[in-house]
Amino acid sequence: MGGIGVLLLGTGVTAFGIAPLAPDAADLPVREVVEALPVLATPLYAAIPASANLPPDASRPVLSNPQPWTLYRSDTTRADDTPQSLLTRLGVNDSEAQAFLARNALARQLLASRQSRLVHAEANPQQALQRLTARWADPKNERGFLRLVVERDAKGLNARLEPGTLEASSRLASGEIQSSLFASTDAAGIPDAVAVQLAEMFASDIDFRRDLRKGDRFHVVYEALVADGEPLKTGRILAADFINNGRTHEAVWFEAPGVKGGYYGFDGESKRRFYLSSPLEFSRVSSGYGMRFHPVLGTQRAHLGVDFAAPTGTPVRTVGDGLVEFAGVQRGYGNVIFVRHRNNQVTVYAHLSRIGVRTGQRVAQGEFIGNVGSTGMSTGPHLHFEFRDNGVHRDPLVIARESEAIKLPENLRGSFAAVAQAQRSKLEAAAQVRQASAD
Ligand SMILES: [Zn+2]
Repeated sequence: MGGIGVLLLGTGVTAFGIAPLAPDAADLPVREVVEALPVLATPLYAAIPASANLPPDASRPVLSNPQPWTLYRSDTTRADDTPQSLLTRLGVNDSEAQAFLARNALARQLLASRQSRLVHAEANPQQALQRLTARWADPKNERGFLRLVVERDAKGLNARLEPGTLEASSRLASGEIQSSLFASTDAAGIPDAVAVQLAEMFASDIDFRRDLRKGDRFHVVYEALVADGEPLKTGRILAADFINNGRTHEAVWFEAPGVKGGYYGFDGESKRRFYLSSPLEFSRVSSGYGMRFHPVLGTQRAHLGVDFAAPTGTPVRTVGDGLVEFAGVQRGYGNVIFVRHRNNQVTVYAHLSRIGVRTGQRVAQGEFIGNVGSTGMSTGPHLHFEFRDNGVHRDPLVIARESEAIKLPENLRGSFAAVAQAQRSKLEAAAQVRQASAD
C-alpha cells in the first residue's frame, strides 16, 4: 500500500537516454508511485501491540471499531474531467467531496486548467475522501509551484493552496541527429523546451534549419524543476555541446550579480550577438518548414530577403535592439515593420497578419513585434525578412554571425572558470552515459 520509490532513470530502449545526474543515489529524484488494491471482503482487525496493557487473563479481543485504513490512489486530470469523473478514477465515491470540488473556490482551481495534473487521493474503506493533493506550476512565479490540499477534519472538508519553491535537479541527455533535431530529442526522451533552447543557444554557430547533418551529436545538461519530488517543469539548459559537421560547439550558462545570465563558450565569450540569426524562435512547427531566398514576385530584381515559411500567427521577434521606424501597411509588403538599429542598419518584417508595435516604439532584441501572415504580395503564410546595412541588403545569417560577441568582464573570469569546469565534467559524464547505453 505504501509508496514505492522509483528512480526516474532514462529509457533504456533508445540508445541515448536521459539519466539524472547526482553523485549519490540518495539524491536522485524519487517519485511516489501509488496503486490502489482491491478492497478485502474479510474484516480487518487492528493488531494489538504486545506492549498493550491488558488484564492478565484477557483474551485478545476483536475490536468492534477497527483502526481505519486508507486507500491511496493517483491519477492525472483530463481536460474534460468533472469532479465526479476524477474522483471515480481515484476510487472515491463521495458526493460531499464531489460537491466540495465543484463549489470551493480553491478546490475548483484543480480542474480549472486544461493542463493535465497529477492528483493523489486518500480514501477510507467506505470510499469517502480523506485527503487530496495536487501540485502545479505557479503561473506568477517562474520558480514556484502551488500545492492544493483538500483534507477532512472533524468539521468536514477544507481546502488550502500553498505556495512552494521548485527544486532544480540536473539531468543529462544525449542524442544523435538522424533526420531533424526534434526527431532526435523525441528519440532520447528530451522535452521540447530543451530542444528549443538547444537550437537558440547555438543559433549564432549553427543554422538548425539548414546546417544539420546526419550523425551530428549533442550532449546536454539541463534542469528539471521538481515540486515535492514530482517533476513539474523543465528549467534551463546549464551546458551543452553540439558536434555539427565535425565541428564542436560548446556553451555553458553563466550568471553573476550585476550580469544578466546568458550562454558563454568555454573560452568565456558570450553566445549572444548584437543580432539574432532568426526573427522566428526555433520550434517544432517552424523547424519543419524550409527557409529560402527567392525572387520577389513580379519584379526582375534578385530577391532581397529571406523567407521563413511558417503558419499564420507564429510570433515574430525583432533580431536586435532598435527603434520601430515604421509599422503599418505598404504595397507589396502588406503589414510591415521596419526596425532601425545602430550604425544605420535596418531590419524589415513583412506580410504580417498582425502588427504588435507602434511607429516610434523602442524594442529590445528578441521582443515580440507581430505575427506571421500572408498580407501584401504573398502566395502563402510566410515571413519576409530583410537586413539592410546602410541601404545595402545583406544576408541576415551572415550579419548575425559577424556581429560582435559580448565578453565577460575580467573580474568574473575566475567564477566563470569554476562554473565552466563543473559543467564540462557533467557533459563528459553525459558522453559516458551515452556510451554505456549504446554498449
Ligand atoms: Zn520574400
